[in-house]
Amino acid sequence: MTLLVDTHSHTVASTHAYSTVQEYVVQAKLKGMQMFSLTEHGPTMPDSPHPWHFGNRHVLPRVVDGIAILRAIEANIMPADGGHDIPNGLHPFLDFAIASFHEPVFAPASKAQNTKAMIATIETGDIQIIGHPGNPNFPIDIAEVVRAAKDNNVVLEVNNSSFKGSRSGSGPHCKKVLEITDQLDWKLVFSSDAHVAYDVGNDALSMACANEVGFPMHRIVNRDAHSFTTFLAQHNKPVAVELKDWLKAL
Ligand SMILES: [Zn+2]
Ligand SMILES: [Zn+2]
Repeated sequence: MTLLVDTHSHTVASTHAYSTVQEYVVQAKLKGMQMFSLTEHGPTMPDSPHPWHFGNRHVLPRVVDGIAILRAIEANIMPADGGHDIPNGLHPFLDFAIASFHEPVFAPASKAQNTKAMIATIETGDIQIIGHPGNPNFPIDIAEVVRAAKDNNVVLEVNNSSFKGSRSGSGPHCKKVLEITDQLDWKLVFSSDAHVAYDVGNDALSMACANEVGFPMHRIVNRDAHSFTTFLAQHNKPVAVELKDWLKAL
């Protein structure tokens, strides 16, 4: 583990994931991390929690045992032309939002259609991260997407689980995302996409690929809590203010 913030994880609030918030805190602490994010699926996915799940997370402490907990969502890129499935009114409850292609929601389409939908989602201004863009089931024009992301201060994700079985065949596409983002002088976010607490903060496979490409650490927005909350503050997310004292004490 080299990054101190994990931006993507699923808890037992989704039945295809296997750990509680507390179990994530324990593992994050053991690994010397500073922060992780709860990012259950948006409501269009079959295994999304009830929408109240997202609105009630104010009951969670901001910091437990020194570990900060962010409240986010992995929304769905919607067919056919993009957009997302974050319900109206939920935005104030979210520290940030990821948007991803998922097969149960968006049937894989042509490269041109996928690219168009992804860019339209970026341009909504409601999401900060594009999840697992290296999925070979959803070919995209990576350069076009990175340019749109840069114009909108959105980052593409390098998803560690994409290198080890999820979305099989992603590896070469993730490498291309790293190379093209580097060429276009833009930033990335790295995540575990953990579905069990033991995986939180796992970025070894993503980092190995980044090292191969020579992608610079200073352009990974979640290298630590300061860099990630700075990114969120650029999107006017109040969590950056709420965690100010905790950040100072780090
Ligand atoms: Zn996903
Ligand atoms: Zn996920």
